[in-house]
Amino acid sequence: MHRTFRAGFFARVALAAVFSLVGFSFVSAKDGMTSSLLIGNARIDIMVEGGTLRVPAEDVLGWVKSAAESVAAYYGRFPLPRVSIRITPFEGRGVRNAMTFGDRGGRITIRVGNSTNAAELASDWTLTHEMVHLAFPSVDDDHHWVEEGIATYVEPIARIQAGHLKVEQMWLELVRDMPQGLPQVGDRGLDHTHTWGRTYWGGALFCLLADVEIRRRTNNAKGLEQALRGILDDGGDIRREWSLEDALRAGDRAVGVNVLQPLYTKMKDKPVSVDLDSLWTQLGVQSDGASVHFDDNATLAAIRRAITTAPESNATADDSLPPGSIAVFAGRAVGPS
Ligand SMILES: [Zn+2]
Repeated sequence: MHRTFRAGFFARVALAAVFSLVGFSFVSAKDGMTSSLLIGNARIDIMVEGGTLRVPAEDVLGWVKSAAESVAAYYGRFPLPRVSIRITPFEGRGVRNAMTFGDRGGRITIRVGNSTNAAELASDWTLTHEMVHLAFPSVDDDHHWVEEGIATYVEPIARIQAGHLKVEQMWLELVRDMPQGLPQVGDRGLDHTHTWGRTYWGGALFCLLADVEIRRRTNNAKGLEQALRGILDDGGDIRREWSLEDALRAGDRAVGVNVLQPLYTKMKDKPVSVDLDSLWTQLGVQSDGASVHFDDNATLAAIRRAITTAPESNATADDSLPPGSIAVFAGRAVGPS
């Protein structure tokens, strides 16, 4: 588990047309159930270990598919050609103890409570977070913040792009949670301050600042999304061990402006505070803690809209529109491996 529990009081966007394209097949065996899902050219092998999940197998597979669709929407494809997901039931409810590994071609382990219901799976963010980890190389432990920061920042954007989260919910939670990423007394920069807040939300703050700056410098033509796609397309996935400098250089090269490298130089060894209230105002995000309103006349309103808009779809004034091209990512069920 990587983040505070996300309250699920928002309405999910239904994509019935996409779901209807997908079939499921779970095969029961003595030691559990196995299934596979194809998403584009990628294959996801799912293993539910022995134990009883009360939620139907179709809902478990639908949960995996939603997370995979989200990550594929953000990166333009699923990050690895093949990945295995091992689901271990526990007594209780919820999703916890998720971990992602670069060995054996890439794999995720995750625990699901045996009383978890379909709605809880449908609003889960954890598996999407783990799948984002697949799309960035393994870097030294001092830079754990960049791995967690990217996963924390990208996960809700990816789910919005796939129609699984409302854009208002993301900004509500960013305004609420991002202050946890600000440096506290005694902070020595992102590479030397390994607290929970600086690792997850300090890393996410780095991503938000980079996203806004790339968009500002490219006249909103490119953003962090294109930088991260560039790193992945250069072979930087979780199966590889890279230096952080090489990864950031690949990201900057992909967008044609030097943003990631100088931002890292600025933030790695010393505390850099950020006026978040001013940033939210410039982006046109007004939150009262219970709901958000958007100011489309704000200086950076167009950048705010672009952050959550899938590159393939046309930007519109309506942040809540799901992308129209998600059907290309829909998979189909295949037999057990
Ligand atoms: Zn994580």
